[in-house]
Amino acid sequence: MSYDFDLFVIGAGSGGVRAARFAAGFGAKVAVAESRYLGGTCVNVGCVPKKLLVYGAHFADDFEQAESFGWTAGKANFDWPLLIANKNREIDRLNGIYRELLINSGVTLLEGHARLADANHVDINGQRFSAERILIATGGWPQIPEIPGHEYAITSNEAFFLKELPKRILVVGGGYIAVEFAGIFNGLGADTRLLYRGDLFLRGFDQSVRIHLAEELTKRGLRLDFNTDIVQIDKQANGSLLATLKDGTQLETDSIFYATGRRPMLDNLGLENTRVEFNEAGYIDVNEHFETRDPSILALGDVIGGVQLTPVATAEGMAVARRLFKPEQYRPVDYRHIPTAVFSQPNIGTVGLTEEQAIEQGHKVVVFESRFRPMKLTLTESPEQTLMKLVVDAESDRVLGCHMVGPDAGDIIQGLAIALKAGATKRLFDDTIGVHPTSAEEFVTLRTAVSSR
Ligand code: FAD
Ligand code: NDP
Repeated sequence: MSYDFDLFVIGAGSGGVRAARFAAGFGAKVAVAESRYLGGTCVNVGCVPKKLLVYGAHFADDFEQAESFGWTAGKANFDWPLLIANKNREIDRLNGIYRELLINSGVTLLEGHARLADANHVDINGQRFSAERILIATGGWPQIPEIPGHEYAITSNEAFFLKELPKRILVVGGGYIAVEFAGIFNGLGADTRLLYRGDLFLRGFDQSVRIHLAEELTKRGLRLDFNTDIVQIDKQANGSLLATLKDGTQLETDSIFYATGRRPMLDNLGLENTRVEFNEAGYIDVNEHFETRDPSILALGDVIGGVQLTPVATAEGMAVARRLFKPEQYRPVDYRHIPTAVFSQPNIGTVGLTEEQAIEQGHKVVVFESRFRPMKLTLTESPEQTLMKLVVDAESDRVLGCHMVGPDAGDIIQGLAIALKAGATKRLFDDTIGVHPTSAEEFVTLRTAVSSR
C-alpha cells in the first residue's frame, strides 16, 4: 500500500522538528503539522524567552555592582513593554528560521490542528493524509489545581505576554518554572513571594543545593513561604486579587502565577480512534523504540512524560529518525548523566546523582563541598556565595554527581557531564589543571572531604 507520507509528525516543537528534519534528510517523505507556533514550547513560551527574561532581570545586579568597579551610571529605569517587544521580535525571527529549516530540508509543513482518524490517517484543515507512521510530538501544557478562583491565575504561557509588570506577585510551585520566574519577577523589581506546598522547594535536587539556593534567594529579598498553599482566589473590587492560604491567612496581590507542573497536550488529538494507551500519570505509553500500542504510531518528548527537557526531546527525535530511516546510524537515547540547569539567580547546574540518591542506591559516598564568594563580587557589597559539590563513590573513586549553585553554573556543568559520562574518577578531576582565575577551577581543586557515609 502506498501512503502520502512515510512519516507524519504532529507538533513542530523540539522533538518533532528534529525528527522531521532528519527523517527528510535521510530520504523519507515527511509532513509536519503545527497548530500554534513553529519551534514549540521551548522557542515560544519556554527556554528561549525565559532565558532572555533572566538576562533582563540580572541587569539590576549589574548596575549596582558596576559602581564598585568605578562606574557611575544614571538612575536605572526598567521598561517591561520594551523588553517584551524585543523578546517577541527575537521569537518571530526564530519562528522564521524554523520555517526555513523545515522547508529547506524538504519537509511538507501543514499549519493547523492535526487529529488522528486512525492508525495511519491524519485530518488537518479539512484534508485527510495517509502515513505509514505517525509521530506524536505534541508536548505539554501548564496545569493549575482547580481551586475556587483558579481562573484569575496565570501560567508561564501568559507571563511572557503580560502588558505590564505586576507590582506584587505570588508564585505558586517549587519546581524549575516557579523558581526561575520568581527570580525574574524579583529581579525586575516586583514584590515577589514564592509559595510552595512542601518543606523545601526543588524536590529531587541535591539537598545542599536546595538549602543553598533558598538562602541565596532570601538574601536577594525574594520571600520564600514553604509548607503553604492557596485554597481560594478572589477578585476584589479594586482589581487586585486576594489569595486565601490553607491556614486562613489572606494575601493581597496583583497577580498569581502558577507553576504546578504540566500535563500532556492531547486535546482533540483523536487518540480514541487508535489503540494508543496511557500510563498512570496520563502520558502516552511507549516502548524503548517510542512505539505506542499501535505500532504505526510513535510518540516522544514531553507528551510521553519522561525527562521534560528540550535536549532530551531532540535526542529522542534523532533516535526515531535514525532507527526508521538510517538504521546503520541508530543509537538508543542514553538517559544517564543528563545535565540540567535551573536559571535562577544564581543558577543551579547539576549532573549525575545527588548525595541522597547515591546513598539510596547503595553507594558509600565521600562528599566534597566548597562555598566561596565569586571573584567578581569581591569588590562589591553582594553577600552571594557560590556552592560546588562533588559526590564520589568511596570504593571506585568515580565521581557520581557534580552540583553547583553560582553564576554560569549551567554553562560550567556541561563539560562536567562529559567527564561523568566518561566515568571520570576524583583522581582524574584532581589531576586536571584548573583554569585560573575562574569559579570552575574549584571543581578540580576540591581536596578535603566534608563527609563520608
Ligand atoms: P513542544 O516543544 O511543546 O512542542 C509541541 C508542539 O506541538 C507545539 O508547538 C504545539 O503547538 C504542537 N501541537 C500540539 N498539539 C497539536 C496538534 N493536535 N496539531 C498540531 N500541532 C500540535 N527545557 C530545557 O531544556 N531548558 C530550559 O531552560 C527550559 N525552560 C523551560 C521554560 C518553560 C517556561 C517551559 C514551559 C518549559 C521549559 N523547558 C526547558 C522544557 C522544554 O520546553 C520542553 O521539554 C520541550 O519543549 C519539549 O519538546 P516537545 O517537542 O516534546 O514539545
Ligand atoms: P515541575 O514538575 O518541575 O514542578 C512542579 C511544582 O509544582 C513542584 O514543586 C510540585 O510540588 C508543585 N505542585 C504540583 N502540583 C501541585 C498542586 N496541586 N498544588 C501545589 N503545588 C503543586 O514543573 P514545572 O511546571 O516547574 O516545569 C515543568 C517541567 O518543564 C520541568 O519539570 C522541567 O522538566 C521543564 N523545565 C525545565 C527548565 C530548565 O531546564 N531550566 C525550566 C523550566 C521547565 P512537589 O515537588 O511537592 O510535587
